[in-house]
Amino acid sequence: MLYNKIMNIIQEFDTITAIATPLGTGGVGVIRISGDTSFDIIKKIFSKQNLEAGRIAHGWITDNGKKIDEVLVLPFKAPNSYTGEDVIEIHCHGGINVVRNILDLVLKNGARTAERGEFTKRAFLNKKMDLSQAEAVADLIHAKTRNFAIQSAKNLSGVLGEKISEIKKEIFETLSKIIAGIDFPEDVAEPEYSYLIASFEKALKEIDEILSCAKSSDILRQGVKIAIVGKPNVGKSSLFNKLLNVERAIVTDIAGTTRDVIKENLDWDVAITLIDTAGIRKSDEVGKVEEIGIEYSKQSADEADLVLFIYDASHGMNDEDKAILDLIKDKNHLIIANKCDLVSEQIDGAINISVENGSGIEELKNKIKEIVCNFSSDDTEFITNKRQQDCLEKCRESLVNALDAAKAGELQDLISIDLKSALLYLDEITGEVITDEILENIFSHFCIGK
Ligand code: GDP
Repeated sequence: MLYNKIMNIIQEFDTITAIATPLGTGGVGVIRISGDTSFDIIKKIFSKQNLEAGRIAHGWITDNGKKIDEVLVLPFKAPNSYTGEDVIEIHCHGGINVVRNILDLVLKNGARTAERGEFTKRAFLNKKMDLSQAEAVADLIHAKTRNFAIQSAKNLSGVLGEKISEIKKEIFETLSKIIAGIDFPEDVAEPEYSYLIASFEKALKEIDEILSCAKSSDILRQGVKIAIVGKPNVGKSSLFNKLLNVERAIVTDIAGTTRDVIKENLDWDVAITLIDTAGIRKSDEVGKVEEIGIEYSKQSADEADLVLFIYDASHGMNDEDKAILDLIKDKNHLIIANKCDLVSEQIDGAINISVENGSGIEELKNKIKEIVCNFSSDDTEFITNKRQQDCLEKCRESLVNALDAAKAGELQDLISIDLKSALLYLDEITGEVITDEILENIFSHFCIGK
């Protein structure tokens, strides 16, 4: 146990390296080195020896006198670097093998390969950024849309962290007054209950303000999720393929295949994930078909922002269709009558389409786009992720308990317990209080080299 801990600490501060640019052919490739021995390592492999922090040096990377590449070296001295440690960036020519040769050389000379997100983790541990900023780094890199990248940059600049600190300060002030009243009852009067109520209501309002952006921030982050639901054989996979313009989902007229939900990204103005629940029958479970169909439709619909409910116009809407429609009726949905090529009359109350001959598809696409545009506002004040939202919800719960207790005039000693837990949850967002597991989880989603 102790050995593991010591090993972790040693690992945490040894010198790491990774390729910071994508592995591919490009103009420039960057290898990053961070840690105490960064300068020693570069001196062993670089033609220039007088490196000055903040000054770009031009020269050759060499291996025992053999020229490897002509590069620019950017030296940074702790704490004025991304990680807060001594950092060297080697900007070389951007070919996969050039970059790999240099990385190998750096490794051979004493660095070890960085783990996912380890540069940013070090930046966090060295207090170069709070946890909400570190998470914004990953958001920025993985942003599926340009708009989300812009929104993530706001958190990188510390917008969320600052707001959380503000709320923390307010709660802390109130808590201090309560504690002073408890510890020094002769000298300090305990705060009025009306003051406590006003203070908790204010904090709650601010938390709610952040949480009210959760939905739009989820949509900006993940894109809009659209599920195609309906009973087997109505044309879900066919529509899915049509919208994607590829033969991704397998279309079959044999109801007898069982497949998982298929997801694909659709590149319209906003990132869209299409979820297809095609082929949900199992031949040996024919009796359960209806049950399974409904269960799959429900699962997909649950996670979707918009549900495309589809039924077979040539068969009309039967009880099974109606049962599925009933499940999703409270969600944003469109009712689609497919296979209209097989019927002669227009069906009211549904978007009439035929995937077969393409009629109605453009109209359907436009309708989807219209709805999707209404979902995603261009500007969301606070971008949060699921972890941060959970912390905010828990903080909210503690504050509501404190508020109820204050309204009931309960002992302030008891109220202080709720306030302390509210503060802890806020600390978790910015990372003042954080377990190794949570940290591990956050940084494991980064890429190597970040
Ligand atoms: P799913 O089980 O709901 O995914 O249904 P599929 O997309 O696999 O389609 C089932 C069958 O209906 C296939 O044979 C398709 O070719 C056929 N089909 C799909 N759309 C249409 C349509 O608009 N008109 C006609 N006539 N057949 C269609």
